[in-house]
Amino acid sequence: MVPPAIPSLGPSTARPRLLLVSNRLPVKLKRTESGGWTAERTLGGLATGLSGPHQESGGVWIGWPGVMTEDEAIPADAQALLKGLGFHGLGLSEEEHERYYLRASNRCIWPLLHGFVERVEFDREDWNTYRRVNQRFADAVCEEAQRGDTVFVQDFQLCLVPAMIREKRPDLRIGFFLHVPFPHTGIFRALPSRAETLKGLLGADVIGFHTLEYLRCFRSAARRVLGVETTSHTVEYQARQVSLVAQPLGIDPTPWERPDDTPEIAEPLAELKAAAAGRKVLLGVERLDYTKGILERLTAFRDLLEERPELAEKVVFFQIAVPSRIEVDAYRDLKEKAEQLAGEINSRFGRVGVQPLHYQFHGVDPGRLTALYRVADVCVVTPLRDGLNLVAKEFVAARHQDDGVLLLSEFTGAAWELTEALHVNPYDLDAMKSAYVRALEMSPEEQAARMAPMRERVHRDDIHHWTRSMLDAIENSQRSSAPELIEDEIQEDCLRRWGAASDRFLALDYDGTLRELQVDPLTATPAPELIERLEALVATPGNEVWIVSGRTLDFLTEHLGGTGVGFIGEHGRVARAPGAREPEQLVVTLDPSWKDRIRPMLESVTGRVHGSHVEEKPEGLAWHYRGAEPESAAWQAHELYQHLGEIMADENLEIMRGNKVLEIRPSGISKANGLATVLGRRAKAPDLVVIAGDDVTDESMFRAFPEALSVLVGSRASSARFRVEAPENFRTLLGLWHATAPAGTSHAS
Ligand code: UDP
Repeated sequence: MVPPAIPSLGPSTARPRLLLVSNRLPVKLKRTESGGWTAERTLGGLATGLSGPHQESGGVWIGWPGVMTEDEAIPADAQALLKGLGFHGLGLSEEEHERYYLRASNRCIWPLLHGFVERVEFDREDWNTYRRVNQRFADAVCEEAQRGDTVFVQDFQLCLVPAMIREKRPDLRIGFFLHVPFPHTGIFRALPSRAETLKGLLGADVIGFHTLEYLRCFRSAARRVLGVETTSHTVEYQARQVSLVAQPLGIDPTPWERPDDTPEIAEPLAELKAAAAGRKVLLGVERLDYTKGILERLTAFRDLLEERPELAEKVVFFQIAVPSRIEVDAYRDLKEKAEQLAGEINSRFGRVGVQPLHYQFHGVDPGRLTALYRVADVCVVTPLRDGLNLVAKEFVAARHQDDGVLLLSEFTGAAWELTEALHVNPYDLDAMKSAYVRALEMSPEEQAARMAPMRERVHRDDIHHWTRSMLDAIENSQRSSAPELIEDEIQEDCLRRWGAASDRFLALDYDGTLRELQVDPLTATPAPELIERLEALVATPGNEVWIVSGRTLDFLTEHLGGTGVGFIGEHGRVARAPGAREPEQLVVTLDPSWKDRIRPMLESVTGRVHGSHVEEKPEGLAWHYRGAEPESAAWQAHELYQHLGEIMADENLEIMRGNKVLEIRPSGISKANGLATVLGRRAKAPDLVVIAGDDVTDESMFRAFPEALSVLVGSRASSARFRVEAPENFRTLLGLWHATAPAGTSHAS
């Protein structure tokens, strides 16, 4: 078989082949009259977003093509048609469609992830079908996958797929993106299949979310439900590190930026202008879904007209309600309620020739939608909860004159990025009414000041930016599984390195590395054999041995002082050199690489907050937001502060809140910095550095000294090169290395 050419997403970046996996394919299969098949492109946020990258990558897109099949298999001629378009169709039987899609996905996971616990309907049989269908998606991926492919799984219908793929194909890089919110832990824990769902997702190398808030909620759910360890952007699961990424989906702004005289836009634009008849236009566009806040928005509009009936002559509301999931009862109820409310508004406040609300229960084509976005004075995007909301971004993209007002619910993911929109709480009807008035009365200058930076951002952080960021994250994800066990060839290699060195420097953690962990740390004193082993190491010329521990120097000196080892205590704050009488505070040598990890976060928030900037200081980084719109900047500053607070623990950073500035500086205390200081004093670098540790605090040493012979004691993802199972094995290892290797010569210090 001829291997496929490696496709590229851009002119210079060669990308591995991309396997996309989503519940729906972006085409719908239809029977032709002659008994053949056609495949029609379908609309939708995700389809619009991923079609381009799919085609450019030359990969395969796996999903359901919209036809029910009896035996779950797509007919061969239909599959051949799909294959020619780069798709792999997956058939669903009527029952599967009902249980997996309509029920488990739409009546259970959807309301749960949107925080509507009272709407969650969990049924064990539905869940079993959900699992079975997810397995079929995973099997289809394994069938299509070639070595080196990247797999990118989309959304909440396929939560179990990442782990199922990994089980069969651990060689593939797997990404997952959640297009809906992730709720607070208290809500997520209501899901009976919560652990299975989390484990399914954690099969991925990278999990993407629209916002940092969702990322944080996912991380705490994983911690709480599975008891796993996490850092700010990783979850440690089954000896792997799963990366978490917050990367809001972008849109393709091009179709929305087309000029007014484009034929598909010009005609509906003229028609809509005539219908508006000089009145100010409010616009709502969404699928008819209870998360979208349509009833609340129309109720607020009704109440506003009640208070100010004269507005019925001055304002018109175009509400497009796109039919959705109409097979589900909750959606049928909503349809009825929305129609009733629309009827009430027009009958109470309309008169012959004046209809304040144009409510349509059908979708519109992109030309008409652009015309709607252009004719609107205010786009009302007020969901009760929405993972992101593409309509808000499309409206912004369409406003090429930088006019118009975006009224945006603070419960949308988009609010995190579109900071200059008028934010509103959709549950607060009074606030909604005031926001309508404020939006309708906003001056052209204020409109432009708000719209221009949003439009620039939507244009810049488009769908290609999202795709690149996500694929980069997946492709660059560290395959940080547990390091290799020291045995056989690795052991031989270690012995060779040990024997070849005449000047060895050993930096050894104590608790969990040289000595088993105890519930009461005061009882974790060294056994005589350990003391003898350390003494023997120290007595051999060419060995310099340091214990690098979180313990106080008093404890270390009391129990190990007689061995002649040096101590770096309190996680790198203090030290006592071998043979020295006095302890010393360590003046640390700083590793400046922390800036490269923090700077992108500050730059990303700067991209969202117009008028803010990053200052580079010799010792630190500062994010200034004095020049930004105060309210949204304060929110972003708080988000950033909270997020950096979590990172501080991993990075040994200090964060200071100044007046409209956040400043980040290294606190300088870490085992790695302590070790670097001690090593930096030597006249000559050692031939061999051995570092051993078990804890996350030891990771800073593993990372800072990549050339060292580093040993993790335990089994988990780590930056150490190798590992042993337990302290007992490590003590044996030290004895073995020491016994087999010829003694080195004395080092020059
Ligand atoms: N849309 C559509 N047909 C319509 C109206 C809207 O295809 O008649 C598109 C709209 O352009 C947007 C998407 O549907 O891209 C809705 O995405 P959003 O994120 O706002 O909400 P979702 O439906 O994904 O919850």
